[in-house]
Amino acid sequence: MTQVYNFSSGPAMLPAEVLRRAQQELTNWQGLGTSVMEISHRSKEFIQVAETAEQDFRDLLKIPSNYKVLFCHGGGRGQFAAVPGNLLNGASHADYVDGGYWAHSAIKEAEKFCTPNTIDIKVSHEGKTALLPMGQWKLNDNAAYVHYCPNETIDGTAIFEQPDFGDKVVVADFSSTILSHEIDVSRYGVIYAGAQKNIGPAGLTLVIVREDLLGKARNDLPSVFNYSVLADNGSMFNTPPTFAWYLSGLVFKWLKEQGGVAAMEKRNQQKADLLYNTIDNSGFYRNNVATANRSQMNVPFQLADAALDKLFLEESLNQGLHALKGHRVVGGMRASIYNAMPLAGVQALTDFMLDFERRHG
Ligand code: PMP
Repeated sequence: MTQVYNFSSGPAMLPAEVLRRAQQELTNWQGLGTSVMEISHRSKEFIQVAETAEQDFRDLLKIPSNYKVLFCHGGGRGQFAAVPGNLLNGASHADYVDGGYWAHSAIKEAEKFCTPNTIDIKVSHEGKTALLPMGQWKLNDNAAYVHYCPNETIDGTAIFEQPDFGDKVVVADFSSTILSHEIDVSRYGVIYAGAQKNIGPAGLTLVIVREDLLGKARNDLPSVFNYSVLADNGSMFNTPPTFAWYLSGLVFKWLKEQGGVAAMEKRNQQKADLLYNTIDNSGFYRNNVATANRSQMNVPFQLADAALDKLFLEESLNQGLHALKGHRVVGGMRASIYNAMPLAGVQALTDFMLDFERRHG
């Protein structure tokens, strides 16, 4: 069988070693004669899995002890509602930085709870999409918090700066970039991420919340979204997505074996450089994002002639390069190259791109 490299934006590829291990132990996990999916989340065996996964995640991101880590349901969009529900604390306004599709979607959801102060940071730089640096974000005094999305999965834009807004509560949607580069968690009030890109299977959402922000949820917020309820119950107020939690735990172990987040950051830089250099050095492919804001996780690119898109997708699929079709709102192609994508996968993609250009350019 051809080696397959899966460039899906999410649910996305998982490390092959992790999948093999899960396969090996699937039907007889820890000698119990059942799978990990079939045991109680309150059993001592599962509690061990849950605690180890949390500790490894904490180690990987160097999460300070005054932060809770919540393993919950509802995905990124669930958090679009949970964030205002937990953090407004009676305030009527919150700052929302609009840098792309997902930041904008968070604003739409927040409108159900408050009046978002929208801060549009999209600008054009030499004909390419760019984002205003944090120093130029005009935050408002009436805002309960400021929300932004450091990596826009669809637009292929990223903000690499770390926030430094004094005592403002900063909330960030790390769904498509968590664990891909080092961050200083202490600069954030809340970080959240759906698991299905850089962590594990869909169904699990991770929330990192500073303890002083707990206990402020509005009364009518459903309990499963209430950070304090989840924290008080060790993320087991309702039955958590146990299989996704277990598998994410295997991914955390794998990340540690790879050298942790710092090592991934280096590898991700190499992968992104290879792909962007291939695009920039060709007259055939084009990426429309200014260099400083190019995502290292999601790389959209266009062919010189959109009429060739279909052929590009057919040929790439035949070569084992899967899921390169761009999001419908952007068109063209998109390669998502999260932690689990090896350099060899990006090399296979760029080899194919150059060959395709030679034949059709
Ligand atoms: N935020 C970002 C940055 C995303 O990429 C996505 C999903 N692609 C979401 C939020 C929404 O996540 P979910 O589908 O888990 O609700």
